[in-house]
Order: sequence, then structure tokens, then C-alpha cells
Amino acid sequence: MEKTERVFRETLPELLVKIESAKAVAPTNHEFDKRKKQEFALTNSFLKGEITSQEYESREAELEKLHGALEFSTLPEFSRALKAIGFPKELLEEILAHENAHMNRIEAYGITGTYLVQFYKKLTSDTKSINIHPEVSYGFPIGTTEVEKRRILKEIIEAPEDLSYYDKMQLGIK
Ligand SMILES: [Zn+2]
Repeated sequence: MEKTERVFRETLPELLVKIESAKAVAPTNHEFDKRKKQEFALTNSFLKGEITSQEYESREAELEKLHGALEFSTLPEFSRALKAIGFPKELLEEILAHENAHMNRIEAYGITGTYLVQFYKKLTSDTKSINIHPEVSYGFPIGTTEVEKRRILKEIIEAPEDLSYYDKMQLGIK
């Protein structure tokens, strides 16, 4: 099984199976936080010019990939999955608007991106709940210069009106 499962035009029952499979192999919130902090420290360090894009990309590729993620090509499929996961309408619309703001900026640069849902288990002494972290994923076109990469990355992260905790961490303002 791939660490990130691609979802593409599955029927609803098939989608629900993929959601349950991803939940079953989801990392704990501790593992998720640790991994995200590494990733965001790296992004921040690249944005500040402390490392080159080559170092940034090779070190990012070396970071351990987490199990329990689903990937979607389109906004309607991403939306359908969030609904199937059981998000209340208001929160769902907030997530869609936020991630779509990132995606619009990505597409403005002619880059094809995807939407991701990373599941993780929140373990406390009396509960065992599943949380999700939504995000967008993309790569830079071949030939993008170092300076352009830094600018594009920053613009994509800064795109939503209300920045998330993780957006702020990447920008180094958290
Ligand atoms: Zn964001």
C-alpha cells in the first residue's frame, strides 16, 4: 500500500473504504506534529535564504512520509470526501475556501496541484479520536529559478485571508 492513497472517481462506498483504511494506518498526533515541525522548519529556512532550493528539495524528499493520507485531484472530490468524513457544513466551507485560496495561487503559476487529507489519531487517556489535516500539494515546474521558487512558495502560503497555524509556522511568524 502506498503511503498516500490517490482517490479518483471512486463510488461513495469505495471512497468510504479508502477513508477507513487511511484512518486505520494514521500516525498519532505526536508523530504528525513532529513530522510537520520538521517540514515547516525546512520551508521556513528556505524562505529565509538559509538553504538553497536544491538543499530544500533534497532534504524534504528525505523526510519520512506518513501513512494515512488521501490525495484528490479536484475540489469537488476533496469536498465530497470531507463530507463523507463527517465535517459539519460550516467548517467544511471554511476548509474548502482556505485550501482553494492556496490552490488558486498555485494554478495562477500554471502549476498542477492536488488536495490532501492527512488523518492522525488523537490519543488521550480517555478518548481515541481521529483528526484530519487538510493541505495542498504541488511541485515547481522544471526551470523555475531559486529566486522564483522562494517568491512563489511564499505567495502560495500567504494566499488565504485567514492563515492557519501551520501557514504561520512556515512563514516563521508563529
Ligand atoms: Zn493554509
